[in-house]
Amino acid sequence: MRRKLVVGNWKMNGSLAQLGEVAAVAAAAKEAAGVDVAICPPFTLIASSVARSAGLPIGAQDCHHAESGAHTGNVSAGMLKEAGARLVIVGHSERRAEQHESDALVRAKAEAALRHGLTAIVCVGESEAQREAGDAVAIVTRQLRGSLPAEAGEGELVVAYEPIWAIGTGKTATPADVAEMHKAIRGHLLENFGDRGGRVRILYGGSVKADNAAILFAFDDVDGALVGGASLTAAQFVPIVEAARG
Ligand code: PEP
Repeated sequence: MRRKLVVGNWKMNGSLAQLGEVAAVAAAAKEAAGVDVAICPPFTLIASSVARSAGLPIGAQDCHHAESGAHTGNVSAGMLKEAGARLVIVGHSERRAEQHESDALVRAKAEAALRHGLTAIVCVGESEAQREAGDAVAIVTRQLRGSLPAEAGEGELVVAYEPIWAIGTGKTATPADVAEMHKAIRGHLLENFGDRGGRVRILYGGSVKADNAAILFAFDDVDGALVGGASLTAAQFVPIVEAARG
């Protein structure tokens, strides 16, 4: 039985003043027994004592694959761990597009995160054109093959299925499409990682809101959500956490 996991991705939003939202989410998460909840704010807020004292796991939205060195502007998984991060998102479609990140790079980042005992959330997802061409499952399977680390490492591996066309657009994949894709991802995990693949949590991401979360969480292989816009305020995020409680 996999526990549900609901993760907020603040992207390049948030300030010290907004950390009150983390405290409010933490209070609600304590009530939501059986659901794991985390927030990934920008790097600058990870080490904030306010964020850490809220008692909610705090994560990052990216890490570098190397341990240290001449990589101006980057942050390593070890540095994130030292700053108090417990998880890290890698391969988000915005980074794959804006920073031209390849599957191989995403895998190296996930391996670095796992080496440091962080939970690595590896994102995959097809474009609208790829879905319309009927290639969604093939594209996502290819991304999984290229992006997932072979070894478990110290940390937990999580997969987030995020159709690119549903991120921040208000469009969501139909429940049937989500169910089909999560089943295909589970099949890939079982085939390639055996029993361990059955324990990997698969999150859905793409305009998840209070009014569509419960329908999505009802599917066997939807183990939670990666939430962007609706994670910025406790008022919008807490109902999604509550929907995960079932
Ligand atoms: C995301 O940032 O991963 C995401 C799914 O965003 P949104 O919920 O805003 O679509």
